[in-house]
Amino acid sequence: MMPTLPLQTIDPETQQAEADWQLSVEWITLRIRWFGLIVGYLVVNTLSPADHRPYLNGILTLGAVYAMFDLVWHWRGEVFLSRAPLFTSLMEAIFIGLLCHFDKGLDSFFRYYYFLSLLVCAIRYTPLITYSTFALHATSYSLLAFTLSTATVDQVGTLILMIVFMGWATWASTSLTMLLRETGQKLSTLNRDLEGRIARRTRELQQSQALLVQQEKQAAFGLLAAGIAHEVGNPLAAISSLVQLMNRKKLDPEMHERLGLIDEQLLRIQRTLRELIEFSRPGLQQATRFDVHEVISNALNIAKYYKRKKGKVIRTRFAEDLPQIAAVRDQILQVFLNLVLNAMDATEEGGVIEIETAFEVGQIHVRVKDNGQGIAEFDQAKLFEPYFTTKSTGTGLGLFVSRNIVERARGRIRLQQSLPGDTTFVVSLPC
Ligand code: ADP
Repeated sequence: MMPTLPLQTIDPETQQAEADWQLSVEWITLRIRWFGLIVGYLVVNTLSPADHRPYLNGILTLGAVYAMFDLVWHWRGEVFLSRAPLFTSLMEAIFIGLLCHFDKGLDSFFRYYYFLSLLVCAIRYTPLITYSTFALHATSYSLLAFTLSTATVDQVGTLILMIVFMGWATWASTSLTMLLRETGQKLSTLNRDLEGRIARRTRELQQSQALLVQQEKQAAFGLLAAGIAHEVGNPLAAISSLVQLMNRKKLDPEMHERLGLIDEQLLRIQRTLRELIEFSRPGLQQATRFDVHEVISNALNIAKYYKRKKGKVIRTRFAEDLPQIAAVRDQILQVFLNLVLNAMDATEEGGVIEIETAFEVGQIHVRVKDNGQGIAEFDQAKLFEPYFTTKSTGTGLGLFVSRNIVERARGRIRLQQSLPGDTTFVVSLPC
């Protein structure tokens, strides 16, 4: 059975590799042709029968014209007559046959050109075309024998030997080329695999780097909060006790009321500080069982200090009798807080943010919906990528970190839909 070429054009990359191969091979072919022509001119004008030289020079010049076209096409990045390989082979068979005919017949130096032609054909085309070219060349050389007026036994021997060698050269060059192509193909597949693996590893590295950045930021924030709490907390406590002392004294009722108000405000500042520290202290990294509603309420409690909270309504619709979930509580709190803060950023004054919980076999779903501007369709695919942000002061890590946290808790976070006036994120956690 005729071996088929393993390099079938399948995908664009393989197609490109095939085109590159063709161009490289064409360059080799061109050099072989031009070298053959120069040697041919030399042989014709020194060794060939003098009366046949004009014919031979004429045939070689025709070959040079053809080689010229080939060269021009190559400069244009194309292969001349690439779609008609058998036509090229036929022309070569006639060209070499004529050269031999006007030179010294079967013994002509030009008979070696058949081998070069077969070699070039093998590296350029499929085995089928190479074997067909061999048939054309064998016919060309045999016809040459028939044109001779007298055929000696020697000449018949030369003819047979020549055809055997041509067949041999065809088989050898075809096998070698196939091996070369297969190896090249394997190498490019390996290369593609390697590139894919490098890209994957780079992505993983970027993601873990992003997580690290976020953790470092949080740790720095924690330190800062603890510092503030220390620096502000102590004087506040002192002021508060002084105010209380003063309030115990006999003063007019209006003064009592004012001091009461001051004390109330001081207590409020202290509470805020406590909550800030609570949120920013390095959290417990162990999974515990907890109530999702309690965590959501906690997140909302923290979110109320956010400057963009002003003028926005937060509504909760909690399902009854929700089972507890097992996860790292502080991390899940971070997820809900991030979703709520994003919703606040997306809404204008008067905007409404709704948080709804639901229970489904083995899963708790938390929907965070806002009636803000929505997310452009083009951006939706990039939402969970690290560093994707459309905010001037954003980090682009909120959703990325949230996804990591939720997936570690064997849950899922996704954008359910986003239209102007209705953006809904859903967090599903196993319980
Ligand atoms: P950051 O808040 O620092 O930008 P996030 O990862 O939390 O990082 O969010 C990434 C981007 O997703 C935001 O910059 C914003 O464009 C978009 N986004 C997230 N939530 C919403 C939302 N509810 N409405 C509109 N856009 C949102």
